[in-house]
Amino acid sequence: VFNFSAGPATLPEAVLQQAAAEMLDWNGSGQSVMEMSHRGKEYMAIHAQAEADLRELMGIPANYKVLFLQGGATLQFSMIPMNLMRGKSGADYVNTGEWAKKAIKEAKPFGQVNVVASAEDANFSYAPAQSGWKLDPNAAYVHYTANETIGGVEFHWVPETGDVPLVCDMSSNILSKSVDVSKYGLIYAGAQKNIGPAGLTIVIVRDDLIGQAQPKPITMLDYKTHADNDSMYNTPPTYSIYIAGLVFQLLKKQGGLVAIEKKNIEKANLLYDFLDNSQFFKNPVKREDRSRMNIPFTLKDESFDEAFLKGAKERNMIQLKGHRSVGGMRASIYNAMPVEGVQALVAYMKEFEAKNG
Ligand code: PLP
Repeated sequence: VFNFSAGPATLPEAVLQQAAAEMLDWNGSGQSVMEMSHRGKEYMAIHAQAEADLRELMGIPANYKVLFLQGGATLQFSMIPMNLMRGKSGADYVNTGEWAKKAIKEAKPFGQVNVVASAEDANFSYAPAQSGWKLDPNAAYVHYTANETIGGVEFHWVPETGDVPLVCDMSSNILSKSVDVSKYGLIYAGAQKNIGPAGLTIVIVRDDLIGQAQPKPITMLDYKTHADNDSMYNTPPTYSIYIAGLVFQLLKKQGGLVAIEKKNIEKANLLYDFLDNSQFFKNPVKREDRSRMNIPFTLKDESFDEAFLKGAKERNMIQLKGHRSVGGMRASIYNAMPVEGVQALVAYMKEFEAKNG
């Protein structure tokens, strides 16, 4: 089955097989990873290796902490302003769609939120060019959403914010391409799309931004707590971290993020090339800003939707229904989606168009 879910999403088969083989007995320890004490040497080794592999994959500089947290990217919408506003007058946000809007809403209780650019004028179908952003040089940070999972809009460039820290929601495109972490103050992502199972949230944050919060957040919502305790202040989501670690090792074996990016470009082009030549299917996003991870598309009219989904299911392609807020279809093709899955989808779409177009 090819699973096009936006998240929780398909995982690499090799990872699931290894996890299944190790389910009852990890590395001769006689325990499942799920049963291990997080303070024991077995789990500590898994945890440390996962962090080391992520650091290597993304080239994370030594002056950044990697935090393995819970609460989803959604909790970060609040933790970021809580920790980073630091008594400053406010923060700048770029409004690119559903996820950016949620981040903006949650920041408001903590200070002045300036929406410095918005794509709402064209139904969030593009990434606003930086030349139009009205940045405040005294802002605590600039926040943007690298990939809008619902709208299918992705930044293929990194904003320049000078001395103001750049904060990025990378939930749906982290590890899909190489990034220069040093350009960011903070990167965050829920794991359940490109990394692993739900329950783990990754935060990569520059040292100087930790422990500066005014007023001091409650213990569990203070980055300093987790940074000082290697993400072990309380019980971490151990099994999710273990699976994420297996994914990191696989990505390293596959040649790292440069090789992964190449494959992702190839997969996305297959689908977009078809969409651009179709009289029946359409993608609404501006060409330069199209997501390589989440590709929304509509059919000639809505009356075809049900038959399309039914036929897809019969051909072992599932979870293609678009997000409830936008309708239509969405194909999420994260790292773990093989090129064969995209080929099968395009072949089916061609067939559907020939029959119904
Ligand atoms: N940000 C983006 C871009 C997302 O796609 C999602 C989830 O789909 C979230 C934030 C929210 O993540 P979570 O469900 O982990 O809180």
